[in-house]
Amino acid sequence: MLFTHDTEVSLHAAVALVNTMAGSTPGDDDVDRLATPEELDTFVATWSWTGDRAGGMAARERELAAVRALRPQLRRLWSLAEDDAVDAVNGLLREGRALPQLVRHDAWDYHLHATPPQAPLATRMAVEAAMAMVDVIRAGELDRLRECEADDCDDVLVDLSKNRSRRFCEGGCGNRSNVAAYRARRSATTA
Ligand SMILES: [Zn+2]
Ligand SMILES: [Zn+2]
Repeated sequence: MLFTHDTEVSLHAAVALVNTMAGSTPGDDDVDRLATPEELDTFVATWSWTGDRAGGMAARERELAAVRALRPQLRRLWSLAEDDAVDAVNGLLREGRALPQLVRHDAWDYHLHATPPQAPLATRMAVEAAMAMVDVIRAGELDRLRECEADDCDDVLVDLSKNRSRRFCEGGCGNRSNVAAYRARRSATTA
């Protein structure tokens, strides 16, 4: 394992959050997959986010808006050189008033939380992603953050493979490009 388990989970969650933005996965018709409080509920459940959630219609809409606004901030990390990524990560930690604490809860053994469970969801998401980025940058592994190599895809990925071989996002681009290569080979041989 390249990083600690909680760091790797946080990186995958950050990737998933960024990739909910419209125009990323090909074939999704530019649909934003984090458009309603219910979709946010599903995302939170899928990634086992714990901690407090907003209650009441208006507060839930505000919570959603804050999480949506976080996405382009995290997306930037995929395009920044190291020094600029450091500035961005430090900014997220500062704004989120990060205070790292070892905690143990639910089925999880000791890991880091740098925000209390009462902090707004978007703040906790921002700080968790930033804390994971701290590990990535300290290890000199920023180049593990990549954009999908499929022509028509803007999705991001984090390559945690041993041989740094991941090229495509998890939206099916790897399969699509295999199929495209197969078709190209076939038409080359039949031509
Ligand atoms: Zn936790
Ligand atoms: Zn892709």
